[in-house]
Amino acid sequence: MLLSKYATKSPWLFRINTGSCNGCDVELATTALIPRFDVERLGCKYTGSPKHADIVLITGPVTARSENYLKRMLVEIPEPRVIVAIGICAISGGVFKDSYSIRGPVDKYVDVDVNVSGCPVRPQSILDGVAKAIEIWKEKIEQFHEG
Ligand code: SF4
Repeated sequence: MLLSKYATKSPWLFRINTGSCNGCDVELATTALIPRFDVERLGCKYTGSPKHADIVLITGPVTARSENYLKRMLVEIPEPRVIVAIGICAISGGVFKDSYSIRGPVDKYVDVDVNVSGCPVRPQSILDGVAKAIEIWKEKIEQFHEG
């Protein structure tokens, strides 16, 4: 218990695009590339591998074309993990809700821990959502190690 408390690493962020219009993804990119909104100041880092992911940032309404990709990624991402729905499309389907090509929203496939609303989301909201996700992740890590 004591060891797990102090051995906790920095959380790694992983992005999944489930067919967004790219508006939210552009805003997500600002948190990776622009110093003003740098998400690494919160003590986390982006990873390109689902197997290393701790906090998962999902954009898009889950199109028919991206459905299997999302399912595959969710199988590869280990527990404990925190799922963050980025943008109104990921949360509810947004303007694409009930369209013939939409299978989502995201919470049909996985429990969502944090919703970050907006269309597109603002970088400040993303930072706020990631800060909340980090707190939830720390709690999940403790529960995970306590068994
Ligand atoms: S919430 Fe708006 S900006 Fe984001 S993916 Fe949907 S339509 Fe695009």
